[in-house]
Amino acid sequence: MRITGKWRRARDLAVRSRIFSTIPSVDAIPSEIPVVIVGGGPVGITFSILLSKLGVQSLLVEKRCKLPDHPQAHFINNRTMEIFRRLDGLGSKIETLQPPLDHWRRFTYCTALDGLVLGVVDHIHPKGKHYFFAFFFVPTNVAHFSQHRLLPILVENATRSGVSLDPISLQPNQSSIFMGYQCDSIRSSLDKVVATLRPTGSTASEKIVTCQYLVAADGAGSGVRKSMGVTLQGQHNLQQLISVHFISEKLSKYLVDNRPGMLFFVFNPSAIAVIVAHDLRLGEFVAQQMPFYPPQQNADDFTESECQKTIRQLLRLDIDVEVKSVKPWVMHAEVAEKYLCGEGGRVILAGDAAHRFPPAGGFGMNTGIQDAHNLAWKLAAVLNSMAPSTLLETYETERRPIAKANTALSVENFKAAMSIPSALGLDPSYARMVHETINSTVGSILPKSLQAQVLDGIFSVGRAQVASVFLNRYNPVAQARISHVKKILEQGKSLQLQFPSEDLLFRYTNGALVPEDNVEESSRERQREYVPLSVPGVRLPHMKIKVLHGGSPGCEDISSTLDLIHPSRLEFLFLVECSASGLNWAEDALQLSKSSPFPLRVVVLSDQTARDAEADFVGSWKERNAGAYTEVVAADKCSWWELCGVSQPGIVILVRPDDHIAWRSLKQHGSKSFEELRLAFDSVLGWNEKLQLKSAGCK
Ligand SMILES: Cc1cc2nc3c(=O)[nH]c(=O)nc-3n(C[C@H](O)[C@H](O)[C@H](O)COP(=O)(O)OP(=O)(O)OC[C@H]3O[C@@H](n4cnc5c(N)ncnc54)[C@H](O)[C@@H]3O)c2cc1C
Repeated sequence: MRITGKWRRARDLAVRSRIFSTIPSVDAIPSEIPVVIVGGGPVGITFSILLSKLGVQSLLVEKRCKLPDHPQAHFINNRTMEIFRRLDGLGSKIETLQPPLDHWRRFTYCTALDGLVLGVVDHIHPKGKHYFFAFFFVPTNVAHFSQHRLLPILVENATRSGVSLDPISLQPNQSSIFMGYQCDSIRSSLDKVVATLRPTGSTASEKIVTCQYLVAADGAGSGVRKSMGVTLQGQHNLQQLISVHFISEKLSKYLVDNRPGMLFFVFNPSAIAVIVAHDLRLGEFVAQQMPFYPPQQNADDFTESECQKTIRQLLRLDIDVEVKSVKPWVMHAEVAEKYLCGEGGRVILAGDAAHRFPPAGGFGMNTGIQDAHNLAWKLAAVLNSMAPSTLLETYETERRPIAKANTALSVENFKAAMSIPSALGLDPSYARMVHETINSTVGSILPKSLQAQVLDGIFSVGRAQVASVFLNRYNPVAQARISHVKKILEQGKSLQLQFPSEDLLFRYTNGALVPEDNVEESSRERQREYVPLSVPGVRLPHMKIKVLHGGSPGCEDISSTLDLIHPSRLEFLFLVECSASGLNWAEDALQLSKSSPFPLRVVVLSDQTARDAEADFVGSWKERNAGAYTEVVAADKCSWWELCGVSQPGIVILVRPDDHIAWRSLKQHGSKSFEELRLAFDSVLGWNEKLQLKSAGCK
């Protein structure tokens, strides 16, 4: 396969579009702004888009002058795609631009690409399962799209959402992204944050900017987090790795013709590595986890010719290898002790600044983007005086436990990935132990080059376990090991790609919601499969719907229950069934909406089965409230209520602007319902606590 002109042009364009014109002068930066975002990675840019859509002005500073070319994240999970889908078609753009599914659905385990294949796992159809959920459990799908290709698209999306990249034409109150600027220091007090910004690497000029909130999306090494004295909790330095970004047309052709896939775990006497096929159409790869053991080695040892040699040995193919970049990185499993820092909690951590996981399972960027989604509406509500500032505390209450759970899951996945080399007699903990011993004992007084040779020698003896002279069908020990590997793969105990339950069913147990005591058991237990639920804290389950009435304020394109929540509107959704009880609840919600600073959008979710006995009531209610509600019906012959396992009639559901269920009532409408709804709404937003404080004599 040749990289065709079309794809080569796409690649070149993507690279060029990452270069921003010139570094703007400090005078172009506003002195006062509601929100400063530090860091223009996927989390910072997504946050800027979400805020801009909600009408909140922000200034994003990114210290790099151009977006990075080195690929990192590539797996985008269902939940992130659901968020992207509603950002002016960002989701469908990713779906169009990503490689075809057949290029990335499989992981291959082998001793070389033309060597012994130990197993191939299809992660879209793992044994007996179907994990391509589109239009059943989600309105979109998981995607394989590299972070360095996503970033320019996010920037483009930001401009479409009204964010300016051009300081010269910056309008008053317009959000902006300033590349080539770094945040040098911050001072936070009870009522504001003061940030010092300067062109990266320059001390000649600076700009002091005062903001109400500063969001630190400045990555795993977050300078903001460190300057606020916030520590990380968890496991530090799980493994040191090196990643080599390379282009190879021949390798792409070979894989497309013989064995397409996303990950290739290669266990070879010369090296052990995971080859990530970022895009087989562009011949773009990353070789990861080649043995890297600083301080005996450093990134400079990985010269172009050294990398080419190792990659060719590893794959045992005579291929072209154009090395683009080499990057060392350290794998941690840590979560910040707190997300809201400084006096008044006005410095807020998001993304890798708040948590850093092993990449196994692809949770890092996804969790960060979902942090941004959780925080954006809360910050917009507080800045618009629609909720007390205590609402922001729920960002930490809700997101920190999710980060901890995803950290634990990523560590578990990392261990699952290590089960294969262990089964082959390549115990990774042994390599680590040898390295630590060299570092801490007499080995460390040898010259570094000699230490490297000693380590290389020991590791190559270990890797001999996978040499063909040993790992062949005539050797009973090797046969036992190969059978063990096959069993691990068949039982789904190796590294998995999809985690439907953690992806779609993560639940906030405390925060901006009214928790329920008697939550269904199924949501408490750790489970692999996704089961739609309507309990407070979970995301509103998706169902394909059609609009029957009142569906286009703001010209929405509604095909999923999730489309009822519009990214540009700061409003809650009040979901009722089409019954006398449901519509009486709806009437209460409409009344409450008139007096509340936070609007409620009433949606009647009709069943295919009309209740004849209530037809007159329903008819006159609809006539009376014609302009005030939206009515939708399932596009297929199913009931959303049944899909969520709700059997009792009269249930109503309050949904937040980030799609999460805040409260539900399982009772039929009664004389106390209005009060019940008002109290629930106030307590979700945090007004109740404020009222209690006031009545206790506090300000
Ligand atoms: C090998 C690998 C594979 C991965 N695969 C996946 C995957 O498949 N799926 C997934 O979800 N995640 C994956 N991840 C994790 C993912 O890459 C990160 O979680 C993601 O980059 C975090 O985004 P972020 O915006 O929080 O931080 P970053 O992407 O690190 O961005 C932070 C930005 O802040 C800027 N910055 C820092 N300090 C300052 C300052 N003082 N002033 C101004 N700017 C500053 C930096 O230049 C940087 O651009 C992977 C990670 C690795 C290493």
